[in-house]
Amino acid sequence: MPTPQKKRGRLKEERRTGARKKSSGSVSGKEYNYVLQITPEDTQLLLRYRDTLAQGAASFAETTYNYLFDNPDIADVLYAYEREGGDIGELVRGMLEHKLALLAGDTGEKATRSTEAIGRGHFRQGVKPVWSLGAYRLFMDHLQHLVDTEPAIAPEDRDRLESALIKMIFRDLAVMTEGYWRAAVEQLTDQRDELGVEQNLAGEILGNIPQLLWTVDIESNRISYASPGTRAFCNEALEAPIPCFYRIHGAERERVLTAWQKVIDGEAAELDVRLTPSEEGEQRWYRLAFYPIANRRGRVLRVHCLMEDVTSSHVERERLEQLSTRDDVTGLSNRALWFDRLASALAVARRNPGASVAVMILDINQFKMYNDSLGHRAGDELLRQVAGRLQKVLRDTDTLARLGGDEFGIVLPMLQDAEKAVERVATEVMAALSPPFSYQQKELCLSSAIGIALFPQHGEDPYSLASHADSAMYRAKWNASPYLFYESGSAVSASEHLQFSGQLHGALEREEFELYYQPKVDLASGETRGAEALLRWQHPQQGLVLPQRFIGVAEQLGMISPITDWVLATALEQGRHCLVNGEPIPISINVSARSFQSPGLVDRISEALARAGAQGASLEVEITEGTLMSDLDVAASVLSQLSELGVSIAIDDFGTGYSSLSYLKRLPIDVLKIDQSFLEGMAGNPKDTAIVRSIIELGHNLGCKVIAEGVEDESVRRQLQAMGCDLGQGFHISEPLPDASFRRWLSRDAH
Ligand code: C2E
Ligand code: MG
Ligand code: MG
Repeated sequence: MPTPQKKRGRLKEERRTGARKKSSGSVSGKEYNYVLQITPEDTQLLLRYRDTLAQGAASFAETTYNYLFDNPDIADVLYAYEREGGDIGELVRGMLEHKLALLAGDTGEKATRSTEAIGRGHFRQGVKPVWSLGAYRLFMDHLQHLVDTEPAIAPEDRDRLESALIKMIFRDLAVMTEGYWRAAVEQLTDQRDELGVEQNLAGEILGNIPQLLWTVDIESNRISYASPGTRAFCNEALEAPIPCFYRIHGAERERVLTAWQKVIDGEAAELDVRLTPSEEGEQRWYRLAFYPIANRRGRVLRVHCLMEDVTSSHVERERLEQLSTRDDVTGLSNRALWFDRLASALAVARRNPGASVAVMILDINQFKMYNDSLGHRAGDELLRQVAGRLQKVLRDTDTLARLGGDEFGIVLPMLQDAEKAVERVATEVMAALSPPFSYQQKELCLSSAIGIALFPQHGEDPYSLASHADSAMYRAKWNASPYLFYESGSAVSASEHLQFSGQLHGALEREEFELYYQPKVDLASGETRGAEALLRWQHPQQGLVLPQRFIGVAEQLGMISPITDWVLATALEQGRHCLVNGEPIPISINVSARSFQSPGLVDRISEALARAGAQGASLEVEITEGTLMSDLDVAASVLSQLSELGVSIAIDDFGTGYSSLSYLKRLPIDVLKIDQSFLEGMAGNPKDTAIVRSIIELGHNLGCKVIAEGVEDESVRRQLQAMGCDLGQGFHISEPLPDASFRRWLSRDAH
């Protein structure tokens, strides 16, 4: 079924542009002429009888087509050709032209190329060479009949003409078949080239993507393919199933092997593991994905593996988790996570008979003052420092959280001897928080109150335990205790606290405050050298309330300055009547941290002195060591101004803070008051005695008088006297007494 070349354009299978780079060249007609020994005589003979042989070509064409349409396979091809818009009539004419050219004995290159093109066309249209062979046989029969019977052919030419015709038909058939073959080869070459281009492209992509890919052949347990990235990642012999398996974190390897088992069983698996990508590199997160490729019977033949670095998404996820469970100021757990941990700790304790859980709530005293006076940045910084110190005290299994504001929560899980254990932690916490904090080269002292509730005795669920710890914390604040356990009857709630605060507000106007006086006596002579004014609140319901229960609250409420003013004025006024040998004795007043730091204290003191018509020497100001150290710059300036007024300065509770000795030396301090806790220990603890002795010595070296407070018995008094302590104050000498009683005591003392 030769196709005319000029019509071939329509049937031409479209080749993708550029896909075909190499061509197998063209058929060389000369080779055929040589092999078939086609001579010029053959060509001449054919030319001579061309017209004779061309007779009946039309009827031959028809016979051929009948033959072709009789074969259903060939007919299908022809119908398809028609459907594509091809014209069978044109095909017929094209075939005739070709056959006539063959009869002319044309063996030139042009004619050869045209025959070859027919073969190529057949290949593209799916015409089998064997079908063409049938058409050639028909043509041969037709020509042989003409050669045998046509009278125009000279008898002596018949054999040679037949031989020439056979050679030409062979030639045509072979050239056409070679065209067919060349087209097939070219198509294969094109396909191979395309495949090569695709492979290169795939290689390029695999070499540049961050994911690592490899394939494991399950039968041989070998890596049959590894992407360039995989080879770069594991720069050594690739061992199945995971290249450089040892780089996976030890704790994750078991999970990887389990996932591998799963994939061999035919299930895809995916997991994230920690991995160290290079010797000196840091650990990162990688996602491993295994995809099984199974045969029809479900047996896994290969596993495709993909590995990619997912560190950034892990970091992001952790960050999001942190946001929802972390306090962003301190980085500690937040309230939600703390309750969650508390609930888990309770669940574990419930399964372990005898086990306890302790809930501690810690609140920083006067934090608001620092926040207000130094700014929120300072406040945040202090909270971070507090968090850091608390973390050092606690174990990894304890949960520390910032519950909000200046409140911290602690969960101590799985305790055996709970009370003892919690007391130990509470003491350690207090010790950790006592050294001054620093902010912008300033030293600040903080104190705190801790409330404790225990599971199971104080509550069964997280919320009741937390609320009980909270009320214990308020009670600790009221009583100025460092920590207190929850007590069911004496619960102090936030609302009671509020009520108490409200009552404190009006206490000054309602004249509910009163000063008690406690004498300070010379240990050697027994003479009274002064008295300390100690504040009391006559509470309408609760009776006499001691200052430690309300001074802190007054500070928090910003009420301490008017109270200090009242104490100052009252002490100066009443002090005028506290006479020893007819002379008024100096009265000490306590000035709290907040009063001390508030501007105008010196002015207010000098005004009060003036109003009372008193000399500076009739007044002593006691400030605690903590107050002094919390802001040394302020302390230095206030103390020197007070000193100029002639007011004496005493450092209260000395030995409990962290005084900088070099600084103390530069401040105008007149008196060191040894904290009563050292005196309590003197009887049994030689270390306390040593401390007391050292303070006395230090005070004298600094040019100060030394007074011991809390002298409760004669033996201590004697010890102190023997150690050279100047003054003493305490229940052994006299309890703090109301004004009138104190005056009576003084007059009795005089006799
Ligand atoms: P402080 O200045 O160290 O006062 C000494 C405290 O020890 C007083 O308690 C006193 O009653 C108590 N005390 C005296 N002798 C003994 C003794 O022999 N044994 C024992 N165990 N205690 C003794 P008080 O009156 O309850 O005052 C407690 C604290 O309240 C004072 O400690 C002081 O820091 C503060 N305070 C008292 N009055 C005022 C005030 O007017 N203004 C300010 N801001 N604070 C005050
Ligand atoms: Mg005092
Ligand atoms: Mg004291």
